[in-house]
Amino acid sequence: MKSCAIVGINWGDEGKGRMVDLLTEDYDVVIRYQGGGNAGHTVVNEYGKTALHLLPSGVFRRDVVNVLGNGVALDPENLWKEIEDLRKKGVAISPENLKISDRASILMPWHREQDELEESRLGSKKYGSTKQGIAPFYSDKYQKKTILAGELLYPDMVRGHLEELLEWKNLTLSGVYSAETHTPEQLLEWLEYYGGKIIPFICDTGRFLRKAEAEGKSLLFEAQLGALRDLDFGIYPYTTSSNAIAAYAPIGSGLTSAKLDEVIGVVKAYSTCVGEGPFVCELFGEEASRLREAGGEYGAKTGRPRRVGPLDLVATSYGVEVQGATAIALTKLDVLSYLDRIPVCVQYEIDGERTDDFPFPAVLAHARPVMETLEGWACDISGVRRWEDLPEAARKYIEFAEGRIGCPIRYISVGAERDAIIIR
Ligand code: GDP
Ligand code: MG
Repeated sequence: MKSCAIVGINWGDEGKGRMVDLLTEDYDVVIRYQGGGNAGHTVVNEYGKTALHLLPSGVFRRDVVNVLGNGVALDPENLWKEIEDLRKKGVAISPENLKISDRASILMPWHREQDELEESRLGSKKYGSTKQGIAPFYSDKYQKKTILAGELLYPDMVRGHLEELLEWKNLTLSGVYSAETHTPEQLLEWLEYYGGKIIPFICDTGRFLRKAEAEGKSLLFEAQLGALRDLDFGIYPYTTSSNAIAAYAPIGSGLTSAKLDEVIGVVKAYSTCVGEGPFVCELFGEEASRLREAGGEYGAKTGRPRRVGPLDLVATSYGVEVQGATAIALTKLDVLSYLDRIPVCVQYEIDGERTDDFPFPAVLAHARPVMETLEGWACDISGVRRWEDLPEAARKYIEFAEGRIGCPIRYISVGAERDAIIIR
């Protein structure tokens, strides 16, 4: 029995899905413990290229059981579409290999609407939401105004509960946003249709995981987004609305007693950020376009161009601390191969003072990056599979980062394909 979390160290899109898809070879169960279908975890394997949104990235492995824990935002409509898309690709998904927590809250169509309404109300001050309803969803969950997946098993109760919630939600839709309200009939139809599709997968996943643990099964916890988007420890309010850090895995998975043997923090070899918020190392103009093109940095869910910058060792060190990472997977190193010299952010300067410490979010807008430049390797490394075959400059780049963040870089990814990996 071993347990490991794979988490993002930065702003998300570090390549977590890619690492989970690779490492699930050694695991029996993969659990998504927070976030919703706003994720885009792209994996490239024998099924081609797939962007996963809510399904755990262990779904391609025949012997792996995948769990959606109580901490996720369960949108049955989008989940069902995702399941169908994968089945079309030949991926087998059944109640045997996919289990949905009966305690997961259901993301309703009104959450997506409210997300959209609030972003347009904010106008130029918007958060850059993916408009998948995540913020209204988690707010409602904490107000105890959501329907739990397990309630779908008790249809007589669901109707009454839905009517109660709708009466309350319609007040917000019409009163705050002057938007159209819903009738219980419309939503009941939606819930019966999409809820009905996922009913066969719903079970007490806490019990399932405790049993799996007792039988000595190995467990892999998969996070969405990264430390800097964590609700409590990220760049609030430009965070997501759930806890993306490894410490939440025991709660959001349903295995509340889980002890993580390992936390693998995924770091991209440069920085990217989707949406609004302070991004100290941001590049603009030609330099940014070249990096964005080289890395194909467009959102998997939204297609939005991602903001890009050099590796930020201040933010990364903070992410490593917050995650309690025990090892690092450094991804997309191959993307930097076009550069002769590679800029790296080593400190921040805030009001004339230099610091190694990632500041309180309100101070970030005043932070300026302090840069160092390292030698590039300027050759194709995508075929390299052994540490000693990497060009010396590439090894130095990795060792430099490792020294600053104080955590061993064990995996180096040099391509999107499952096997494009160097294990040190
Ligand atoms: P996640 O949200 O953390 O799972 O990351 P995303 O899937 O959103 O973004 C990572 C992107 O980089 C995906 O399109 C991957 O296919 C791709 N990718 C992952 N690792 C590598 C790598 O080592 N090299 C290259 N070139 N692409 C990679
Ligand atoms: Mg992503």
